[in-house]
Amino acid sequence: MRQWIKQPLAILAEGAGGGLVVENGKIVELVATGKAPAAPVDQTYDASRHVVLPGLINTHHHFFQTLTRAHPAAINKELFPWLKALYPIWAKNVTPDAFRMATRLALTELMLSGCTASSDHQYLFPVGLEDAMDIQAVEAARVGIRMTLNRGSMNLSEKDGGLPPDSVVQDEDTILADCERALNRYHDVSEGAMLQVALAPCAPFTVTKRLMVDSVGLAEKHNCRLHTHLGETRDENEYCLEHFECRPVDYLEECGWLSDRVWLAHGIHFTDGEVKHLGRHGVGICHCPTSNMVLASGQCRTKELEAAGSPVGLGVDGSASNDSSNLMESARHALMIGRLTYDAAAVTHFDVLRWATEGSARCIGRDDIGAIAVGKQADLAMFTLDELRFSGAGDPLAALVLCGAHAADRVMIAGKWTVEDGQPVGIDVARLRHEHGEAAKAFLAAL
Ligand SMILES: [Zn+2]
Repeated sequence: MRQWIKQPLAILAEGAGGGLVVENGKIVELVATGKAPAAPVDQTYDASRHVVLPGLINTHHHFFQTLTRAHPAAINKELFPWLKALYPIWAKNVTPDAFRMATRLALTELMLSGCTASSDHQYLFPVGLEDAMDIQAVEAARVGIRMTLNRGSMNLSEKDGGLPPDSVVQDEDTILADCERALNRYHDVSEGAMLQVALAPCAPFTVTKRLMVDSVGLAEKHNCRLHTHLGETRDENEYCLEHFECRPVDYLEECGWLSDRVWLAHGIHFTDGEVKHLGRHGVGICHCPTSNMVLASGQCRTKELEAAGSPVGLGVDGSASNDSSNLMESARHALMIGRLTYDAAAVTHFDVLRWATEGSARCIGRDDIGAIAVGKQADLAMFTLDELRFSGAGDPLAALVLCGAHAADRVMIAGKWTVEDGQPVGIDVARLRHEHGEAAKAFLAAL
């Protein structure tokens, strides 16, 4: 079946003013302005009201945190006290059913903002939630979105001087065995994969060195990516100097983690030398502007990192530090915080849209998504400019970022429509809101 997405209002692609042709889940032709496809098509979709982007890719999140948005125990705090307030509540109440609803809600919310792929850094494995990866695999298929399952881990708890309570950590052998199980079961390295797995110790300071090192070996064996938090707060540098007598980037290097297989969440507090060092090794950085502003963590040096050679992607981060899972909103925040860091000309709407698409695809190690080009997967996010906020806008692509687009009208993933007229296909939004809201009530009751 050949489908022509015809004559969009605007499109983020070169030479595609007349739209694009989708066949068997892939983009097979870009149509120049005023032209028609080279061969007959079976279906035509009139995109004259739509601004068409490559599907957005979210490269950092913690879905379970949607259950504790704007939680009274956590609001108005910085990272460490915020984590300490929430860990005991999460440990007791993230049941498989609650986790399933959190995953379904976060994926749907992301997709409605234009995401066609997301990763989730799932590092919480209390007793009873051993099947977290399996639950997420089922939910991603149900929503119809691509997903990188980040098999997270923590094995240093309060008794070892770490932050999390003993009840949410696992031992090294259990973690490594489940990483391998998840890789064997869900990691698909083929073109157009709907599911992949990455290994993702929560932070270098919540796991043992052996786990960091062994994760590299396992990632090489299975050709998967590695992910962790790094450089989010200044406390982390101090903690590292005190406990390891070196800075976080040096510790990462000691563990064998400076490679182009790695992408890091946040990446804020680096020296000039560290920025160059990370860039030279091709380490990716997921910029999380909304979360960084909410927790007052600091400003990521996106331009220097990109210039040094690091892929820069975008993430919304977990829903307890960015209470919203809207990647278009984070693209707008990336532009704004970028202008505070640099100047008004340094970060443009093209930069932030590139980070949310191509840059994010590079972070998660994919060359088949992240751009509208022949041979890429047919993953599209399409926005209208019909809302009041866009009225009077001159440049349609700039308007998406500057006027604050929040909701895609149409989303296509692997050639299938997953959002139509602003509604997720096959998902009852009112019911989802009710079921997730009920699951979240237990967390407020636990206060
Ligand atoms: Zn995070």
